Amino acid sequence: MTLITSVRGRIIYNSRGQSTIEVDISTKTHTGRAAAPSGASVGRYEAAAFPKGGARKSLDILEDNASKFIGIDSTDQKAIYEALKTIDSTDNYSVIGGSTAYAVSMASAQVAALTQDIPLYKSIHSKEHYKLPIPLGNILGGGAHAGHGAPDIQEILVFTLASRSIRDVIQTNIDVHKQLGVLLAERDITFTRGRSDEGGWAPNMNNEQALEISARACESLGYTLGKEVALGVDFASSTQYNQEQDRYIYDRAGFENSTGEQIEFVSDIIKRYKIKYVEDAVHEEAFKDMSILTSRFPDVLIVGDDLTVTNYTILQKAISDKSCNAAILKVNQAGSLYEAMQFADMATQNNIKLITSHRSGESNDSQIAHVGISTDSTLLKTGILGGERVAKLNELLRISGNDLIRGLGEL
Ligand code: PEP
Ligand code: MG
Repeated sequence: MTLITSVRGRIIYNSRGQSTIEVDISTKTHTGRAAAPSGASVGRYEAAAFPKGGARKSLDILEDNASKFIGIDSTDQKAIYEALKTIDSTDNYSVIGGSTAYAVSMASAQVAALTQDIPLYKSIHSKEHYKLPIPLGNILGGGAHAGHGAPDIQEILVFTLASRSIRDVIQTNIDVHKQLGVLLAERDITFTRGRSDEGGWAPNMNNEQALEISARACESLGYTLGKEVALGVDFASSTQYNQEQDRYIYDRAGFENSTGEQIEFVSDIIKRYKIKYVEDAVHEEAFKDMSILTSRFPDVLIVGDDLTVTNYTILQKAISDKSCNAAILKVNQAGSLYEAMQFADMATQNNIKLITSHRSGESNDSQIAHVGISTDSTLLKTGILGGERVAKLNELLRISGNDLIRGLGEL
């Protein structure tokens, strides 16, 4: 019943208007569908989104090799991964493209769930009960996700600390985003209400002003930072890092940091704004520098994204260097769902908290909500506004009524 009978791919568009791959995988009775997301601040060691020749080439390779998936049990992600590897033996999917690896493996998980009439999260990882991850939302964007006047820092994020219902925590993120829009408009009558790739506001201001007004948005709603809600920052520091000069160059704000200065810069922001979530505070190969922050701030989620790139081997290095206490899980950084789950298992076994995450270029799919649940992720980083972001939040709301769900996870 769950054996794959057909594989069909097509090129569609993502939220940034770029081409991406969508795949339909069928069993005798059902069809699962998934489209790959894509990043703008891409880690050096993540899977290549496409081969040379782009989405068209990737699709041609899939079409030429579709027969390799026929007859595989759609519940068997390892077999899907092995079939992908017979087509592309590189370690970064540079032949077939990580986007196709993502879409094939996710569509297969989807059809496996549909055919068995179980939720996708259970099909990915079967256990008795599940908890929902807490949504982490982007309220203000800069860096690679916004135009030149916006801050160098890529993302200012918000999430709730006090345990409440999933609807409440989503609504709180929406309220903070909305309030920030009001404050930005009050501060600057020329503010266009422009938004970054992930739906956060993209104002014309520097890092400091952006952090200050984001904190004020939370406080003016009556929240105490670090109590009911907290801010997070994705520094996406590889965007600022200049390898030749070994310095972090903040073009827009007009300053540079040595490694030591970068660590103090981040530490100061954490303390002043009671930040509880810090992603890629240093560049993607600075494992030892990250470990300074991890030991300095044990109560803050010190998160690897470009640092760990959902790569099992790189995570092992981060664990042995004690570089982070949390890691981003982006299935398309790994390529296949099987490899992403290997990464998730390794993280869990080593007390590394997981943050399942969207990409800045997203599809309208909602499967990552299920990935977040099945991996026991602490947070689901998926934006606040924009149809492609809300799709994941709405899926959490739908799932929240399921018998297998036991409320929200703990931070
Ligand atoms: C990120 O850096 O966490 C992110 C979501 O951005 P991108 O998808 O551009 O890598
Ligand atoms: Mg990031």
